[in-house]
Amino acid sequence: MGVPLLDLKAQYRELKAELDAAITDVMSSAAFIGGPKVAELESAIAQYCGVEHAVSCGNGTDALFLIMRGLGIGPGDEVITTPFTFWATVECIHSVGATPVFVDIEPGAYNMDASLVEAAITPRTKAILPVHIFGQCVDMDPLREVAERHGLVVVEDACQAIGATYKGKRAGSLGHAAAFSFFPSKNLGAAGDGGMITTDDADLAARCRKIASHGTSKKYFHDAFGVNSRLDALQAAILLVKLPHLDRWNELRRSAAALYDELLADVPDLEIPQARDYGQPVYHLYVVKAPSADVAEKVMAALKEAGIGTALYYPLALHEQAAFDQLQGWVRPTLPVAESCDGRTFALPAFPGITREQQQEVVDVVKAVLG
Ligand SMILES: *Cc1c(COP(=O)(O)O)cnc(C)c1O
Repeated sequence: MGVPLLDLKAQYRELKAELDAAITDVMSSAAFIGGPKVAELESAIAQYCGVEHAVSCGNGTDALFLIMRGLGIGPGDEVITTPFTFWATVECIHSVGATPVFVDIEPGAYNMDASLVEAAITPRTKAILPVHIFGQCVDMDPLREVAERHGLVVVEDACQAIGATYKGKRAGSLGHAAAFSFFPSKNLGAAGDGGMITTDDADLAARCRKIASHGTSKKYFHDAFGVNSRLDALQAAILLVKLPHLDRWNELRRSAAALYDELLADVPDLEIPQARDYGQPVYHLYVVKAPSADVAEKVMAALKEAGIGTALYYPLALHEQAAFDQLQGWVRPTLPVAESCDGRTFALPAFPGITREQQQEVVDVVKAVLG
């Protein structure tokens, strides 16, 4: 029958009346840039995450970049981050002229290993940039403790983790600032690109807002060199319709993950993702690890043959990417845990609303290969 990796058409069918009305409203108002919907979404996200300020922007990549700029990170500075993430995480560091420094990840949960951070700190280190990968929060307490002792800021890449909690607090409120993405496939997705910065730091929020709008202090007066990065009113209106459903969708993702955990528990040679007990993950992706790239390829081929959506997350760790070869003085670190994931970690469909039968179908195909 087949199962998609993600079913965005079903989500649209569920909310069609409300979404269509919201789009029509914006079209009739002809307020396409800025305006009440954008301001309303910023307040709603700030409140949802439990922070004072939210600043919207063009996408998650820009949110990260604007935070780096807002913090004044630039040439000569180092930012400690994880190699097991989407490329945008390191791109933001490079695009402000700073240097990424990678530390390895913890096995099973795939997040930055906080115990390795201190050894990576140098006099040039300015910030730590953890990523709540696949929607599970990084163990933030040890990370913040190290950061405090060394006078560093912690920036969350929360693009995959909207709604996830750590010790009762939501992602986006766990560091000095955080970046969110509303890319359509994210847990809260727009009908195009969108991004948001959250922070309790009013000055940082103001600086980010200014850089996102051409360094403007007053219309046609510029006291900084900025960029143009905006969230469209249409996207804001769409996100405002979807936000009230986010917690329920995340709960459905958790149920789907729990069922896979149960159905896959006795499959030899397949590592299921470890949920840490300090918070609630939101399973942006449910990712399993095969014992080798060959086995992963076999399972994925069988899934594709059966019409089931799957993909490697991620095929190649970031410190191994070719782009670094162009960087002068770049020395590739050895990060065994991240490297052990190359070609071996792949996602199974776990979108909100996936049925038990669909999950059983996926599991049957996996079991037919791994027996
Ligand atoms: C999606 C994503 C981004 C970038 O978001 P865009 O909106 O696509 O620019 C950054 N970091 C992580 C971890 C992501 O998953």
